[in-house]
Amino acid sequence: MSDLSGRTVLITGGSRGIGRATALHLASLGARVVVTGRTVEALEAVAAQTEGLAVRMDLADRAQTASAIAEVQERAGHIDCLINNAGIAVGAPLHRTTDEVWDRIQQINVHGTMAMCRAFVPAMAKAGWGRVVNVSSLAGLTGQAYTSAYCASKHAVIGLVRALAMEYARTGVTINAVCPGWVETDMAREAIDRIAQSTGRSADHARATLEGASPQGRMVEAEEVAALIGTLCGEASRGIHGQAIPVDGGTVMR
Ligand code: NAP
Repeated sequence: MSDLSGRTVLITGGSRGIGRATALHLASLGARVVVTGRTVEALEAVAAQTEGLAVRMDLADRAQTASAIAEVQERAGHIDCLINNAGIAVGAPLHRTTDEVWDRIQQINVHGTMAMCRAFVPAMAKAGWGRVVNVSSLAGLTGQAYTSAYCASKHAVIGLVRALAMEYARTGVTINAVCPGWVETDMAREAIDRIAQSTGRSADHARATLEGASPQGRMVEAEEVAALIGTLCGEASRGIHGQAIPVDGGTVMR
């Protein structure tokens, strides 16, 4: 198990799902946790549970994000580990993927990730130690129908990881992506509802379809993704750099 005592970690989208599970796990490894997102009540509940800090940050709004970053820097000080987890998914066929849908997904998933890296990675490099874990997706490694905007955004997140991994390779900062398959969170539950609605099949049928995409025949738990993120933040993972690591029950084998 990684020992993160003395480290401060920032987790975007820490209010629920994978981000919340990651906040709880990294706190259990000794880290001081800062969680961001839009839903203040949920963030404060996570902060209370982890004895951490909650900061409201809406990645869809660049000006608000800039002031939230300044608030994090003022209240939390140096960030040792940055977990870019916040993300949204919209399922739509190409002809219904409007500019608004496209822009919103790229803004939150791609620009949000880049803006956080730009704000915190140079200071990690200056300190000679840091960890960045970007939550991409299997949709960042493979093509998936009816998710062109999401798929493109998650591929971009991996492109960003690879470019920054080269740029920061000699600084003591590691930069990686984790690529979950379907995970039991609100995002997957919303996808199940959407599939059931658009196909006229039952929610159980839609769920079975998603579970069947994995050779293990199941969805991944948020805690499994959190555990991988915890490992990547540890000292022993210093040689793991520029990777996009699936957590998907074997859906993608490379
Ligand atoms: P989730 O339960 O829907 O949680 C999404 C998180 O992102 C929430 O904490 C949410 O916080 C935050 N968020 C959404 N819009 C935001 C915005 N405009 N500004 C700031 N924060 C925002 O989803 P999840 O499954 O945990 O997803 C976490 C990450 O895993 C995402 O990047 C997703 O693409 C990725 N992923 C998920 C799955 C899956 O099957 N669930 C699979 C592969 C990858 P607020 O609502 O409080 O803002």
